[in-house]
Amino acid sequence: MKLITVGTVAFDSIATPFESREKVIGGAATYISMAAAYLNGECGVVSVVGDDFPTAFMNELKSRGVDLAGLQIKEGEKSFHWSGKYHMDMNSRDTLATDLNVLATFEPNLPENYRDAEYVMLGNLVPAVQIAVLNQMNKRPKLVVLDTMNFWMDVAREDLDKVFGMVDVVTINDEEARQYTGERSLKKAAAKILTLGPKALIIKKGEHGALLFSQDEVFFAPAMLLDDVVDPTGAGDSFAGGFIGYLAKMNDTSFTAMKKAIVTGSAMASFTCEDFGPDALLKVTEEQLNARVNVFGDMVRV
Ligand code: AMP
Repeated sequence: MKLITVGTVAFDSIATPFESREKVIGGAATYISMAAAYLNGECGVVSVVGDDFPTAFMNELKSRGVDLAGLQIKEGEKSFHWSGKYHMDMNSRDTLATDLNVLATFEPNLPENYRDAEYVMLGNLVPAVQIAVLNQMNKRPKLVVLDTMNFWMDVAREDLDKVFGMVDVVTINDEEARQYTGERSLKKAAAKILTLGPKALIIKKGEHGALLFSQDEVFFAPAMLLDDVVDPTGAGDSFAGGFIGYLAKMNDTSFTAMKKAIVTGSAMASFTCEDFGPDALLKVTEEQLNARVNVFGDMVRV
C-alpha cells in the first residue's frame, strides 16, 4: 500500500445557523481517505469504530479504493462522536462534545502491507497514536504529513511536540498556529514551527485559502468561492487527503508539486462544503474536479 492514513472514523452531530443534523458520518480519516483514494486510486485506513458504524458505508468506501484492513471494529462499543456548532460566518465553530468512546483505548496495529507505505497522512487524533503509527513503519516513509487541532494542543502538548519533530509537513489552521506558538504573526508562527523539524507548513485559513511555507519560500492559494456553504465539516481533512493523494499519485514531494497539491486539496475541500458530511464528496466527478482546479488558476493569474 503506497498511501495510508490514520485518523478518526466517526459520527458527527453538526449544527449550522441554518440546519442541524445528528449522527452524520464523519471523522478525519473518512474524509482524508476518500479524497486521497479519489486521486491516488487507493488509500489504507488505520482507525477504530464501534459495532454501530454502518457496514453499507464501509462498503461504499471500499468501492472507492479505500482499504479498511487497518480499521478495527470493536464489538459492543461506540464509535468516536464529535459535536460542533458553526458560527454565522460558517468559517469558525465551537466544539460542543468530543466523546472518545472506542478511541480512548485505541492501539493501532498496522497490517503488514501498510508498513512499507511511502506516503503517510497522520490525520487529526491522539498524538500518541500518530507516533505509534510512525513507529510501526518498516522504513522512513518518503513523506509524512500531520494534521492536528487545538483540542490536542490543550490535552497532549508534550506528545504533539514530539510528533511535530517526526514529520515532513504540518497542516493546521491559523488560529491553531497562533495558539501553538504564541505568535500573532503567521510568518513568525510558521518560522517557529519549521524549527521543530517539518520542512513545510500549511496554514489553512478556511474560506480565505491556505499558505504554504518552507524555510525560504511562501505560496498562497485562495479557497474556492462558493455560492453556498452548507457544512464545512471535513473540509480540512478533504484538503489534506487531496494534498497527499496528489503527491502520492505524482510521486513527487518537491515544493513545486506541493503548490499543485494545495490547489487540488482546496478543490476537494470546496466540494465537501457543499453538503452535509461526505455527501458532496461522494458525488464529485473528474470533470468537476478538473474544472475547479482550472478556476483556481484563473483566480490568481495576473
Ligand atoms: P475538519 O472539519 O476538517 O476539521 O474535520 C472535522 C472532522 O474531524 C469531523 O468529522 C470530526 O469527527 C473529526 N474530529 C473532531 N474533533 C476531533 C478530535 N479531537 N480528534 C480527532 N478527530 C476529530
